[in-house]
Amino acid sequence: MNRAQTTIKSEVKLEGIGLHTGNRSTLIFRPAPPNTGIRFFRSDLPGTPMIPARLDFVVTTVRGTNIGLNEARIHTVEHVLSACTGVGLDNVDILVSANEPPAMDGSSLPFARALLSAGFQHFVDYPPRELRFPGEILHENGKARYRAVPAENFQLDVTLLHDHPMVPRLNLRLELDRQSYLAEVAGARTFCFEHEIEYLRSQGLAQGGSLDNAVVIGRDKFHTNADGLRYPDEFVRHKILDLIGDLTLIGRPLFRMRLEAECIGHAHNIEFAKKLREAALLMRRGPIEGLPRKPSVEPAMEIDS
Ligand SMILES: [Zn+2]
Repeated sequence: MNRAQTTIKSEVKLEGIGLHTGNRSTLIFRPAPPNTGIRFFRSDLPGTPMIPARLDFVVTTVRGTNIGLNEARIHTVEHVLSACTGVGLDNVDILVSANEPPAMDGSSLPFARALLSAGFQHFVDYPPRELRFPGEILHENGKARYRAVPAENFQLDVTLLHDHPMVPRLNLRLELDRQSYLAEVAGARTFCFEHEIEYLRSQGLAQGGSLDNAVVIGRDKFHTNADGLRYPDEFVRHKILDLIGDLTLIGRPLFRMRLEAECIGHAHNIEFAKKLREAALLMRRGPIEGLPRKPSVEPAMEIDS
């Protein structure tokens, strides 16, 4: 992992259609100064409004993580964010010319490759923002369960449990760094179940979804492009990809923890990320003598905390 804050060296551009909206868009990654974190910009709107990639700007979590500020929205930010953290970026500006980034192939690999091709620059006077918290953090909601404990690096143990004959219990344990992210996680694509498609489409979702950017799990077979599954357990790997993207919204992308999680999804990821942020904030600020340990809330516009 990097020991100085990192951004890219030069601008890099991708184009395609959004997974849920079906809208065509151009995405530009642009180098950003230290302590700015990751920021999205709507390059098609007057004034190019900015939306920080932070938890306070999450507006909905239906089949994707959507952020917004005032009237500006960007849907399905998780794969782009996952790539940024996966390759070890702290600061980057992301310009999108519509309300959703292009889905590309449904994984984060095209974004990661673009970032790698741009090269990296390091701000040696600025240490990376580490996510540190004092002890065990637990979060449970329905079947979803998360448990994080402090560690020196980022270790994941994720389990997928679906009540579906084609998807047995899948578990993957990984120690995350740039290399393992690229080899084990980045290529895993979005998936959905065949029986959900009609409903998703009726809700205005998956409008840009196809076998070019998703795997469809049928009753007794997988529907994929001609290349088939990229990993036998591609689904749990994609859940890890999504989780890394959602946790990036904490704004401290150097994760020092061992994280066990099962039955996870975007809404639960965001709830858990908020708990982690709370614990990390309390640790940095410390309890005030004589006062009860009231939960504190990070100011909404504080980008460089
Ligand atoms: Zn995803």
